[in-house]
Amino acid sequence: KRPTGATVVRYPGKGQEHLRVAEDRADYSAPPPNSVKIEGAREHNLKNISLEIPHRKISVVTGISGSGKSSLAFDIVFAEGQRRFMESMSPYARQFVEQMSRPDIDRLSGIPPTVAIEQRVSHGTRKSTVATVTEVAQHLRLLYARAGVQHSPTSGEPMVARKPGVILRRLATNLTILRRQRLSLVFLCVPLIRGRKGHHQPLANWAFEHGLTTLRIDGQFVPISQFQKLDRYREHDIEAVLTHFDLTGARTRAIRSCGTRIALAEALEEALRWGKGSCFLASPTASILSWYSTTRTDPVTGESYPDLDPKHLSWNSSRGWCPTCRGHGRIYAWMADREGFPDSVQDMEPGSQCPDCRGDRLNIVSRAVRLPLKEGLAVSLPQLLQSTPTAMLATLANLDLDPRGRAIIRDILPEIRERLRFMGTMGLDYLTLDRATSTLSGGEAQRIRLAAQLGSNLSGILYVLDEPSIGLHAMDNARLLQSLKSLRAKGNTLLIVEHDEDTMRQADHIIDLGPGAGLHGGEMLAAGTIGEIKRNRASLTGRFLVRGLTHPQRGTYRPLPQRRQGPTAPPQVPDWLILENPRFRNLKGGRLMLPRRRLIMACGISGAGKSTLVRDLLKPAVAYACKRDLATLSGRDFTNAGLLEGDSRTKLPFRRLVGGRGFRHVIEVDQNPIGKTPRSTPATYTGAFDVIRVFFGSLPEARMQGHTASTYSFNTRLGRCEKCKGAGRMKLVMSFMPDTYVTCEECDGRRYGHELDEIRWKGKNISDVLAMTFEEAAEFFDFHVRLKATLDLMVETGLGYLTLGQSSPTLSGGEAQRLKLVSELAKGLKTMRERKLGMHPQNLYILEEPTIGLHLSDCERLIEVLHRLVDQDHTVIVIEHHLDLIAEADYVVEIGPGGGDAGGEIIYQGPVCDMLACAGSPTAPFLRRALKRRRS
Ligand code: ADP
Ligand code: ADP
Ligand code: ZN
Repeated sequence: KRPTGATVVRYPGKGQEHLRVAEDRADYSAPPPNSVKIEGAREHNLKNISLEIPHRKISVVTGISGSGKSSLAFDIVFAEGQRRFMESMSPYARQFVEQMSRPDIDRLSGIPPTVAIEQRVSHGTRKSTVATVTEVAQHLRLLYARAGVQHSPTSGEPMVARKPGVILRRLATNLTILRRQRLSLVFLCVPLIRGRKGHHQPLANWAFEHGLTTLRIDGQFVPISQFQKLDRYREHDIEAVLTHFDLTGARTRAIRSCGTRIALAEALEEALRWGKGSCFLASPTASILSWYSTTRTDPVTGESYPDLDPKHLSWNSSRGWCPTCRGHGRIYAWMADREGFPDSVQDMEPGSQCPDCRGDRLNIVSRAVRLPLKEGLAVSLPQLLQSTPTAMLATLANLDLDPRGRAIIRDILPEIRERLRFMGTMGLDYLTLDRATSTLSGGEAQRIRLAAQLGSNLSGILYVLDEPSIGLHAMDNARLLQSLKSLRAKGNTLLIVEHDEDTMRQADHIIDLGPGAGLHGGEMLAAGTIGEIKRNRASLTGRFLVRGLTHPQRGTYRPLPQRRQGPTAPPQVPDWLILENPRFRNLKGGRLMLPRRRLIMACGISGAGKSTLVRDLLKPAVAYACKRDLATLSGRDFTNAGLLEGDSRTKLPFRRLVGGRGFRHVIEVDQNPIGKTPRSTPATYTGAFDVIRVFFGSLPEARMQGHTASTYSFNTRLGRCEKCKGAGRMKLVMSFMPDTYVTCEECDGRRYGHELDEIRWKGKNISDVLAMTFEEAAEFFDFHVRLKATLDLMVETGLGYLTLGQSSPTLSGGEAQRLKLVSELAKGLKTMRERKLGMHPQNLYILEEPTIGLHLSDCERLIEVLHRLVDQDHTVIVIEHHLDLIAEADYVVEIGPGGGDAGGEIIYQGPVCDMLACAGSPTAPFLRRALKRRRS
């Protein structure tokens, strides 16, 4: 439903270049407007609303899910900001602008350059890490290239300066060795250009004028007479051949004779002058044999190395990467049949660390570049990247540089420091800089992108954010709000889609949309400060802020089973699920005890270890115990079964799991997007569409024309639009921006060919049905009991506003999760047989932050849905920060007290009421305050 995050500037580096251009082009002669003014907005469900978003202020857009918040913030403000910005760019960019649809609005003015920072996990490239996304890596490379000391990979000694006489002896020795190896001809070359873009014709002219005849261009010898302009958009390395040495016959012996020694010395001296202190020998096939350097020579082996540039420290460059894994640090199955990888990867275990660089990603020479630290210490780039932000700041404060060195890096250090400090204020201090972004949660990914923005010192930007509070404990959220305020203080405008009460309290301006979802929403209910919103009777958010939810919603909590469980003979299922001494990652042991058939919340600040405990240990352990019907499962058996994510450690992940058997299924309802193909929709996902296809295929009209249910499938060629293959939209590929989608012009987004237009039921054809919301469809198909039951579940879960045909990849993480919940609920209904036999199949459900995207009024419904699962005898574990959900739990577990190494303990487990009095719990004070706020 959002523009697939399509036009979103995800990678700050790229985006900011554009923004800087935008700043330059801004018209500074006109007085800056005070607000973004939107008139007559009708995009999606918006009801012709007009509003203002004040500049240099924090505005929050709120309202129940489906009310139109994203349509306003992303599809209008962000998309239009982006579109206008592209219009001001090159003709190449402009040709796409025409194809991008304009939002449905009368007027929009005062819009600055816009950046969207979404919570959706975007994996980026396989190599992206926390350091690359925050741009810390780029700056560190520069730091290492300028201030790093090359060490010998063989002897470990730092490179030293050497007198030309010493180098000459080495050159003579090497020539003798090469001769013994039967090489007849070698070339003495000097570096001219390293990694610089351009066609380099002037350089070739210059070389020609200086009497040179041969260049070595990107590793190939080229006679200057045949030089042609190079690809100006690519980076090139160019060297010149200064002399050659003929190693055959008598003349070689002459190298050692005195006379030629002088000639050799002259040649070397000349080369070192041309090459600014370095030169190398190359073979007839132009490969480099050995370097000679007055500044970078190994005191032990005498080997020399070229000057450093940032590319040498990048695992995205052939100059820096480990030749075995090409900078991935791990071995993947696909490497075996990809060009450029050595044959040896075929024999390596996929998923294991690269045996060459051991996960460092860089080649042996680059790994040996170290920054000098006080007390004679030194640190390589991969070593430094293994640290957390605070640890890295401490290391960088300890650099041992002379005044000249300090001057060289003066501009680089602040850039790095600022970004690292922002990671700290975002509550991300437990993440190491080398952590792959693919292992981050949506909230974490959004916050590291935010850290990059905060570190960038841009001003005059409009940032559009999607629920930045996601994944944050109330404590960290307070710090995040401070950072958002510092963005504002730099002169930026923030537009935040958010439900979090504390964010609303800190905002300058709140826009409340509603009152319902979809057709029933899209109106401006209220706008103003939080006080004004609360006093406004028309504002649904205001009313919820005043009255809040009461807990427990059903009046009582479920009583807990007896702690002491007697010996349970199968088939009886145990009452408690017990995981003893969990020690994976940062977990510090203890005894996790969870009551079955209860609603359980797991809380604690981010990085405390909630996911590690619940998703990485408990889930696979219980699933395995059920599969094997094991009353207890030992940590050793668990490890041996290969169930541990990532590298298995030597220490046991836990001692044992007790009471894990007897679940029919262990189901994780995660936030991963569902369906990669744009043909997938909520209706196909829940199975509702299969029923609808059968129904349409059986209409008399359809049967007369020979159509069946399969004519209506997007996956067959029978009925679908062939231009878009049933997707309703097409991808626009632009080289300078992430992919964007446009409506298919052939079917106009209806997904089907025209043959099916006239086959109607109650006046609606199949395309009309796909355009219905679930709410409308539930009414439309009310005669069909099974179909209606599924459609009703969607409505009850708060997704009634989605259309049947919305493309699944455009659903937000929270929506995808609730959609999965619905299909699980539908499956959770007992089968006829189970009902007849009086069986009570139990499932274990694990959810992480299902409140994403939910207004307080939606949360009320979600809580009811979760209780219904428990009523059906299932066990539900929810990882949550939302205080209203925690307050509903029969049982709460808190992990903490801090993040990373400072966390990992089970600091509380038991009912909510006792938690409120738990002294060591970081959550308890917030929970107490929230409950009190409700009552007052
Ligand atoms: P919110 O962000 O408040 O949850 P949205 O702005 O996403 O709400 O949605 C508001 C309404 O617009 C909903 O009825 C939704 O189904 C509809 N909608 C959102 N995106 C699209 C789209 N790309 N095409 C058609 N309708 C959409
Ligand atoms: P929470 O779920 O409470 O936010 P996590 O379980 O995600 O906490 O994290 C606990 C610790 O384990 C943190 O130090 C985190 O950085 C680390 N960690 C989590 N996932 C991974 C992973 N895939 N690879 C490496 N470290 C991880
Ligand atoms: Zn490697």
